Amino acid sequence: MREVVVVGAGPTGLTLANLLAQQGVSVTVLERAGSACSEPRAVALADESLRTLHLLGLVPALAPNLVWDSAAHYFGLGGRRLATTRPGHGRLGFPRKNLFDQPDLVEVLVKGALDRGVEIRHGAHVTGLRQDRDGVTVLTEGGAEWRCRYLVACDGGTSTVRDRLGIGMSGSSQAERWIVLDMIHDPHDERASLFYCDPGRPAVVVPGVRGRCRYEFMLLPGENDEEVLTDAFLTGLLARFRPFDPAHVRRRAVYAAHRLVARQWRRERVFLAGDAAHMMPPFAGQGLNSGIRDARNLAWKLAAATGGRANAALLDSYERERRPHSEQMVRLSAALGRIVMTTSRRRALARDLAFGLLHLVPPIRSYVTGMRFFPEPQVSGGCVVGTGAPVGQQLPAPTVTDAAGTGHRLDELLGIGWAVVALEPRHDPATFTALDRSALAPLAASRVSVLPRDRIPRDCPATRVFADTDAMLPFPANGEPLLLLVRPDRYICAAFRPGDADRVAGRLTHYLPISDQGE
Ligand SMILES: Cc1cc2nc3c(=O)[nH]c(=O)nc-3n(C[C@H](O)[C@H](O)[C@H](O)COP(=O)(O)OP(=O)(O)OC[C@H]3O[C@@H](n4cnc5c(N)ncnc54)[C@H](O)[C@@H]3O)c2cc1C
Repeated sequence: MREVVVVGAGPTGLTLANLLAQQGVSVTVLERAGSACSEPRAVALADESLRTLHLLGLVPALAPNLVWDSAAHYFGLGGRRLATTRPGHGRLGFPRKNLFDQPDLVEVLVKGALDRGVEIRHGAHVTGLRQDRDGVTVLTEGGAEWRCRYLVACDGGTSTVRDRLGIGMSGSSQAERWIVLDMIHDPHDERASLFYCDPGRPAVVVPGVRGRCRYEFMLLPGENDEEVLTDAFLTGLLARFRPFDPAHVRRRAVYAAHRLVARQWRRERVFLAGDAAHMMPPFAGQGLNSGIRDARNLAWKLAAATGGRANAALLDSYERERRPHSEQMVRLSAALGRIVMTTSRRRALARDLAFGLLHLVPPIRSYVTGMRFFPEPQVSGGCVVGTGAPVGQQLPAPTVTDAAGTGHRLDELLGIGWAVVALEPRHDPATFTALDRSALAPLAASRVSVLPRDRIPRDCPATRVFADTDAMLPFPANGEPLLLLVRPDRYICAAFRPGDADRVAGRLTHYLPISDQGE
């Protein structure tokens, strides 16, 4: 019996398959399409997703196809520039917004998965499933059956698995429809997306690498899908940007944006992830990024469950931890669409005036231009101990330098499992002594201690490093080190003093089968 079957070789399913295989789990991916090609859809890749790809060693393969560190220009009535957002670098080790092409990502993920021994079955159209106490039987067209311990439905917005389980969606499908036109040999070469917030016909232009460019135009009332996709119609739409040449079209399509979240993300041994669990308008560029977050959250929990290292509550924590942020992203995407892509002239006028006023207040201006209105995912109420920063946040991903002067990404020193990062105000040889004797010791095999950059090393183990900048990590001002227990998905599970390790272990026994007795 396979440990996990993933339905759908889209970005979510393939990321999950890579992460599971990296953690030693046997995975089969069932994909109904005959080959590994995805349509050009998502164009914005977040730093968090790049961090996940980095942990899988896949960034170098994708890097040449990325427009790194991009900005966005917004134009209001009369083509006047309303704002430029430039999120720049955050705390996760990569630029916060990057432009890319979904088929490039899928290709990199397929190669990564195959290299890790994942079995990918193309032409395997899942039509049904049965569950029993020990596992799941998946049925594909033609009558084949696949048996596994856990099934993850990453089969997109029209998920067959979700449908067979009878799980409904809550929310709504947006009335507006959009033309998506992907072109090649395009003259746009600015490292920025362009949002034309003209109520007459909102439009978006997103340049890509090697002359690729995405154009999106809102359909107006009375226009129909066939008409707007004709050469004649597209020639007119594109005229203000470039000449239309049918030979330069990669894809033309009409899509309707949805705001939908599945009512339940787990039914016994079956989980929903990615668009199968949530769908959002593309204005915030978060659909695919949310799917990668799901994969990241679920992978280590399934790996723990298949390896006998999880209590039942750990798998339940997937929905509990991921749902709130996904719902926030659905709301944010819809709100951005309403503000930026309104077709009401009156609202557009009010918006343009408001933007003009906001620009006069520097803190608000930098809040908007730095895109700090994007809520960072935060785990609360799941597999974490305590509340309040930094617990439940993602561990920042700074670069650090070892005593020999060699630079590293902190992520690379932590490995792929649980880890403890000690933030030491000054060198303390006993930092890990109490931890080593506690019930937490077997869980977190990987240990790294980080010192502020102004300290002189007393010894040189590879696991003692210096922060290149102190600002990213919550160093205690003085006294005892602060230990951060970091989950495999790089969320901070607990922040505690060395003597409290057994207390933390005790609080985790609900999720993990660890003894609450230390040595
Ligand atoms: C115009 C547009 C722009 C977008 N821009 C962005 C953006 O900038 N950033 C962003 O983050 N997101 C964006 N998105 C959203 C993003 O494309 C999706 O969220 C993402 O593709 C979801 O990935 P997924 O793997 O969950 O699902 P999908 O990509 O839909 O993949 C599902 C896979 O499952 C397979 N499948 C389906 N049913 C079955 C079955 N019964 N049996 C076997 N296989 C099956 C399908 O063939 C497919 O390969 C955009 C979407 C659109 C339409």
